[in-house]
Amino acid sequence: MKKGKILWLALPLALAGAVLMGLLRPPTPDPMASVGLLTQPTTLYSVYLDRPEAAWPQEDRQFQAAQLALALDWLEEQAEGYGGSLSLTTQVQDPALAGTALYEGPVGEGTGPLVSDFDAWAREVCGSLAGDSPTEGVGVLFFLPGSGNPYTVVYDSEYPGEYYWEYSVFYQYTLDGSENQWPGPAVLAHEILHLFGAVDLYPGQQAVSRTTAQTIAAAYPREIMVTVRDSSGQVDLTGMDQTLSPFTAWRVGLTGDPAPFEDCPEAAWPPGVWPGGALEE
Ligand SMILES: [Zn+2]
Repeated sequence: MKKGKILWLALPLALAGAVLMGLLRPPTPDPMASVGLLTQPTTLYSVYLDRPEAAWPQEDRQFQAAQLALALDWLEEQAEGYGGSLSLTTQVQDPALAGTALYEGPVGEGTGPLVSDFDAWAREVCGSLAGDSPTEGVGVLFFLPGSGNPYTVVYDSEYPGEYYWEYSVFYQYTLDGSENQWPGPAVLAHEILHLFGAVDLYPGQQAVSRTTAQTIAAAYPREIMVTVRDSSGQVDLTGMDQTLSPFTAWRVGLTGDPAPFEDCPEAAWPPGVWPGGALEE
């Protein structure tokens, strides 16, 4: 999703569970922004947004956290496959890294949460976390009630004053498929990988050339940036059968080069950096 397509509306938010400091962007931004490479120490804070008429049920929050744990298990497994390991801390490792907030903006099909306020809020949460450990990467995972398509907002050096603090937004349910369909761990892993510099590779994406996407997808058809569905085309809520291609592994810092895809023009991009702004799905 490009910023120009985003609807800007008022969005009153009141945060509970994190100390707000309202820190500004660092004077010399790291081009990788607030979330660097997957192997670097990183904290991702979960914010569960309650509606005035409906709070997240405790069992639903626990289910969502368990889905996150499945995604993290898969990420750890993939990192180990490339000889690396994660240094990623979330609510799964530390329950204190989750909070709730009141969200009174629009939710549901055809509407979206407000990026301007989410951006300001991510800045406050991340600023607080970064204040504890300024050398660590920090990001936010927003969990919204209602249905919608997940997305990730990442820093774009073309807009040096905006979107430095990176975050992903997940709806409780997806728009497609059956009613009340949870997005599943693959969606969580896909969006989290975006935070670390992974780019979309599915048909119709606009992150890399079609030739590059097709080359990688042909070699790794189960690559997580190609598909978040399981091999039978369904949403799996119990695990993941996706793979992490050498291209994405390089993008997020697990390897030093994108071989065997070093001939793709995109191999010149620096890892950990999103070259094109905000993403959808
Ligand atoms: Zn994506």
